[in-house]
Amino acid sequence: MTFPFQFEQLEAPAPRYEDVAAAHQELHRQFDEATDAQGRLMVVRRWDDLRRKLETWNALTHLRFNQDTRNAEYKKARDYCDELRPKLIDLDVKLKRKLVESPHRRELQQRFGPQAFALWESEIMTYDPAIEQEMVREAKLEAEYVELLASARLEFRGQAYNLSEIVKFREDPDRATRRESEQVRWGWFAQNAPTLDRIFDDLVGLRTRMARKLGFDNYVGLGYKRMCRVDYSQGDVEMFRQAVREHVVPLAAELRERQARDLGVDPLMFWDLSLHDPRGNPAPQGDHDWMLQRAQAMFDELGGGLGEFFAAMNASGLLDLKSRDGKAGGGFCTGFPAYGAPFIFANFNGTKGDVEVFTHEMGHAFQNYQSRGLPLFDYLWPTYESCEIHSMGLEFLTWPHMEKFFGEDAERFRKTHLTQSLLFLPYGVAVDHFQHLVYAAPDATPQERHGFWQEMERAYLPWVRYGDLPHVAQGGFWQFQRHLYLHPFYYIDYTLALTCALQLWLRSQKDFNEAMAAYVALCRRGGEAPFQELAASAGLTSPFVPHCLQEVVAHARAALLDQA
Ligand code: ZN
Repeated sequence: MTFPFQFEQLEAPAPRYEDVAAAHQELHRQFDEATDAQGRLMVVRRWDDLRRKLETWNALTHLRFNQDTRNAEYKKARDYCDELRPKLIDLDVKLKRKLVESPHRRELQQRFGPQAFALWESEIMTYDPAIEQEMVREAKLEAEYVELLASARLEFRGQAYNLSEIVKFREDPDRATRRESEQVRWGWFAQNAPTLDRIFDDLVGLRTRMARKLGFDNYVGLGYKRMCRVDYSQGDVEMFRQAVREHVVPLAAELRERQARDLGVDPLMFWDLSLHDPRGNPAPQGDHDWMLQRAQAMFDELGGGLGEFFAAMNASGLLDLKSRDGKAGGGFCTGFPAYGAPFIFANFNGTKGDVEVFTHEMGHAFQNYQSRGLPLFDYLWPTYESCEIHSMGLEFLTWPHMEKFFGEDAERFRKTHLTQSLLFLPYGVAVDHFQHLVYAAPDATPQERHGFWQEMERAYLPWVRYGDLPHVAQGGFWQFQRHLYLHPFYYIDYTLALTCALQLWLRSQKDFNEAMAAYVALCRRGGEAPFQELAASAGLTSPFVPHCLQEVVAHARAALLDQA
């Protein structure tokens, strides 16, 4: 397979609102005048084509901004996109409302299944023209956060680094290097604290105003609806967080104790947390181009169509993995549905994280590609907690190939990966719990919010000791976590998905082909069903089922501690 284009050639001209509105008017008319199911399905198909085109423009515009946040033209394009977005959502919501309330709903549901209707019912509740201005302002604040972080230039031992690059020193075997680099990194956050606080405070205020205009008590309810959580509630999430606290936090504390012993440090300090081996964490043994070659060999051997797909992405320039100044931080996968193609964005810095982020985003990309033929735009991606099974699942399914990147250190990599996955669970629920506190108390001051975070650290991360590091010692750690600014309530998703991915890991050890086949089949289903139904169809137990978490954690504990 190949994609019949090069990324640089992709075009997605900015739409004019009048044109889209006219197209919608026509869709409404056609739907009203259709005399049979066939006619009504045709209208949904035309609307779907339009949505794929508009999303391609949206995705491309945001991607280009992230690739070069200093480019004035990209910034202007993004601003236009952000300003138009609420108006386009308004048009979509009107059509969704029409379909949901239509006397012909049954026949449409027969064709598309109930999930689209559940999503649309959720989305209808998240928008009203009365919040248009707040949405535009929200997008601008999010862009301001991304630009601020991308603009950081940190001087460390005579060299300049951006925030993506400097974190590699957290894994340095030399403790003084780790500590000093963290001092520099958090010094930048301390310096920028007033801006970071102001952006977040404005976001909380805006989001709360939107929620109240839409009839919610506060942003928590709206946040869940915006995440399209259609098959579990705040109560389920709360129970899951409690289970992590009960069953994972004690194991995590043991893992931290062992880490301290392995590193020969007492006590374990914040600047030690990313290092799991006194020799240094295993790192990939080559540069960017070498990594791509190794990845190709790995995906070829994995099968399931991954090899061909990866070759095609690479050949069409659908990967941007190198870190550079002005490029936004983080890693993500986006998609251009009009072209049936995904795109991977990352910031390699020479650590094992490169392999993890890259296989993670490949999982997303592969799912999106596998789902491209599903009949509705709404199904191209599932909701996020399901999406992260594809990404984290692939991180575990690629385990047998880690020799390609780490050579003799592959086993060390696997152990560290599993250890960090378990350590991630308490952190992930802490971030989630924190957001519930923040949005339930929208009038809290920035200082009080830092206090909320410290409360979370005491509950879920009791081993963290910051010493005299700036900013984090005062509760500011959370401000580096992009999701909190950009994607509220997107975080528990990683922990739910990880609980599922760990099950895939277990199964892959017993029967690799069976696990791989279940994985590919799950990717093909995209978002055509809600989370727990998708999980069940892949033979995965829902994290909300009591004992699910205990079981996977028990196996992971056995692999890490009992045999060690
Ligand atoms: Zn992901």
